[in-house]
Amino acid sequence: MLVIDDSRAIRGMLCSRLEELEGVVTEHGGSLAEARALLQQDPLRFSLAVLDLNLPDAPKGEIVDYVQSLGIPVVVLTGTIDKAVRKRMFERQVVDYEVKQQGVGIDNVVSMVSRLRFYGRSRILVVDDSRAFRQYLEALLNRHGYAVVVAENGLDALEILDRDPSIVMVITDYTMPEMDGATLVMEMRRKRKREELAIIGISGGSSGSVTVPLLKNGASDFIPKPFEVEEFYSRVDQNLDMIRYIREARDAANRDFLTKLYNRRYFYSVAEKMYASARRGNISLAAAMIDVDHFKRINDTYGHDAGDEVLVKLAEVVQHALRESDLLARFGGEEFVCLSVVADDAEARLAFERLRKVIENLRISVCGETLRVTASIGVNTELGESLDDMLNDADRQLYLAKQAGRNRIMLAA
Ligand code: GH3
Ligand code: MG
Ligand code: MG
Repeated sequence: MLVIDDSRAIRGMLCSRLEELEGVVTEHGGSLAEARALLQQDPLRFSLAVLDLNLPDAPKGEIVDYVQSLGIPVVVLTGTIDKAVRKRMFERQVVDYEVKQQGVGIDNVVSMVSRLRFYGRSRILVVDDSRAFRQYLEALLNRHGYAVVVAENGLDALEILDRDPSIVMVITDYTMPEMDGATLVMEMRRKRKREELAIIGISGGSSGSVTVPLLKNGASDFIPKPFEVEEFYSRVDQNLDMIRYIREARDAANRDFLTKLYNRRYFYSVAEKMYASARRGNISLAAAMIDVDHFKRINDTYGHDAGDEVLVKLAEVVQHALRESDLLARFGGEEFVCLSVVADDAEARLAFERLRKVIENLRISVCGETLRVTASIGVNTELGESLDDMLNDADRQLYLAKQAGRNRIMLAA
């Protein structure tokens, strides 16, 4: 992300807050000239720019036009907001503008960026029989980075919702032919719960005769027409935040705090289902126990924090090396467990041998040093009497791999 502001303090604050978000890298400057220098080569490395309107060499917001002309979405952070500025920002179609006021503007920019990253692949469904209004809402949502699907009546909307699980929000009109908004809301609630789907009703009639049936039937919120654009955005954002907080909380309960891999409890809940399916003969499974070799030495040499960093990096690499259908979890300490659907022993051997090599070739830089680790892997493809039985056998193979000299895989023959 590109951050341009003539105040070094604001720049620094904004960059460090943004970089706290996973995967965000920032570059910054204090003037239009510095922005030009940064944008001279490969401007599209920036997915978003946060810009100050008043710069020493560009006092009238000239930077906005320049950055937009390169195809980069712009958020404006300004010291003052009056009617004229507000109008200018709308004309220029900036993503958002925020007023720098006791850090609130910065907070808002950071939560907007984190919201957009979270909802990157999600979509909002707009239902309205008026084509012009559908297009208007779609344009507003697009401007904030949301992907939109539209439907012109309730029946279409239900069909779209059925086949598109990436929809997180529905914004629906009340008065429509075929099916009114309240009935549509009721039908949608049968399919998706409040914590899965936010539904916002929009209508010209803001009297109780419209709002009550919508809310009673399960709408999360209501926006009366006409509305200010800022009000619309803030309702959309708040409702999406609610869903995100619930999802994050639920996810946190299933994940290990350090590595963010699934924890042991969650592993068992899913693994039992996979195991039952394998028992019925639907799939073949391989269970693998993966244990870092001589991990104690890393702690002893570089300290516990360095050990933690190694585990985080390792977890990331192992997850990445496996297939999406593999169930990976942190079993405890420096031990990971994986349950994979495989065709036969040969495929299992190949997959985990490949994983062993990926770990062996990994270079992890911690405290200015480049560390290397290896792991031993015990694999078992026999279902045995129970899931525990199956895992115990993988563990026995792991023990044999350690005995045989570590950095190797052992598969029950
Ligand atoms: P082996 O090759 O036999 O597996 O040797 P090892 O040293 O890896 O195995 P051992 O089980 O003797 O020691 C595991 C070490 O892992 C000891 C423990 O302090 C460390 N450990 C466990 N969990 C964590 C953690 O969350 N963070 C860090 N930094 N260390 C951990
Ligand atoms: Mg170990
Ligand atoms: Mg161990």
